[in-house]
Amino acid sequence: MNDELLELYQELILDHSRRPRNFRTLPDANHRGQGTNPICGDNYTIYARIEGSTVKDLAFQGSGCAISKASASLLTEALVGKTCLEVQTIFNAVRDMLTTGRTDSDLGKVVALAGVHKFPERIKCAVLPWHAMLAAVTEAGTTVSTEAKKD
Ligand code: ZN
Repeated sequence: MNDELLELYQELILDHSRRPRNFRTLPDANHRGQGTNPICGDNYTIYARIEGSTVKDLAFQGSGCAISKASASLLTEALVGKTCLEVQTIFNAVRDMLTTGRTDSDLGKVVALAGVHKFPERIKCAVLPWHAMLAAVTEAGTTVSTEAKKD
């Protein structure tokens, strides 16, 4: 990736962290997934309205660092209109991209997060909303954490 492109992606991430899209509750949500990353203090809830097997609407609430917030914002733009099966496929592609920096899939604006792989301590921040989304799709009302339970 050349420097110009990298800079563009950083601007996209900054823009999404400062003005997160779909940062609201979703009164008619029928699925919900929560994700926490205790190490950074990221905590988000993803609200989804799923009809049949299609994601009709998405929103999120919570707080955390710029990377996690931008990632959640990009997620809500990327996954509306997808089927639950596609969400799982995209989740795998995003997780692979965040850990390797490479992507074989057309992830749209989400590729802006590819540079995160250079900052291993930030990978959990970026992947957190995607875990919460997967929880929302597979089991309503599940809480996921990047850290294993201590007790
Ligand atoms: Zn974070």
